[in-house]
Amino acid sequence: MLTAVFIKHLMSIMKKLLWSLPLLSLILAGCSTASTTASTTAADSADDSLKVVTSTKVWADVAQAVAPELDIEAIITGGDTDPHSFEPSAADMAKVSEADIIIVGGGGYDSWLYDSLDDDDRIIHALELSEHDHDHDHDANAADEDHEGHDHADVDNEHVWYSAEHVAEVADDFAEKVTELDPEAQVDAAAVTAKMDELHNKIHELPAVNIVQTEPIADHILSHSDMVESTPAGYRATTLSEGEPTAADVAAFQDALNNGDIDVLVYNPQSASTVATRLKDVAEEKGIPVVEIYETPQNNENFLDAFTKAVDDLTSAANQV
Ligand SMILES: [Zn+2]
Ligand SMILES: [Zn+2]
Repeated sequence: MLTAVFIKHLMSIMKKLLWSLPLLSLILAGCSTASTTASTTAADSADDSLKVVTSTKVWADVAQAVAPELDIEAIITGGDTDPHSFEPSAADMAKVSEADIIIVGGGGYDSWLYDSLDDDDRIIHALELSEHDHDHDHDANAADEDHEGHDHADVDNEHVWYSAEHVAEVADDFAEKVTELDPEAQVDAAAVTAKMDELHNKIHELPAVNIVQTEPIADHILSHSDMVESTPAGYRATTLSEGEPTAADVAAFQDALNNGDIDVLVYNPQSASTVATRLKDVAEEKGIPVVEIYETPQNNENFLDAFTKAVDDLTSAANQV
């Protein structure tokens, strides 16, 4: 902690120093024609602009859509990295300590980033900043509000970036924070909140079909739709707490697929166990549509597009029924 505070302090001194250097040479030069060029360079320089660090690329994409000119960096950029079992390096945490704004999902998911930061008002989060406990009896989402025309139950699930409402809230909170720190910054949450409204409406139109998930990644989508979460209870409980399902749980899942009770299967290739992959294969053999939904965007895809694709894929899979 001490080192982090020290580094942060050092960085702020460095920043001030870097900022003052061009001004100093400007004063020494004492030339009025040069002043325009010099001050433009200083303003354009990234050294004094806000630094934003996010746990995953999801939040970096959201933040970048809100503030296109800011320097925004995700610790987990995507690819094969499974954020569930991620351990940050010292270099990762150095970036966190230098950041002006930090964005995380919360709910324990990315606690590797925030559990060493106490009451840090740089942090913007979608869920409460709980520890990474696997009991899921914390009330991270107890205040989840019912909204008009929809009486969904509390969703206690850390995959909160698939909640259109939470993403819109983070976008708004981030815009507010940026403006607070730099009133001149170009910032607008509207592009994100409008997109989330659109997705939210699409989600509400998803039909009442039976759906199973190899990992409960789409809970925040399903809870706003008429889709019926039909993952066998034992399997679901184990995967919610990131455990290994028993042979009986897997057999119950396979039976549901084989009995023709299931219309759509959601599969998360990014944190797939051998069991999950086998269940996906069974679904494919039975001709049950499989929708792939990832933890983080793949192949440099923007998260807003990935979220849209997930909803569109669910829609077309459900319409095959
Ligand atoms: Zn997950
Ligand atoms: Zn809703």
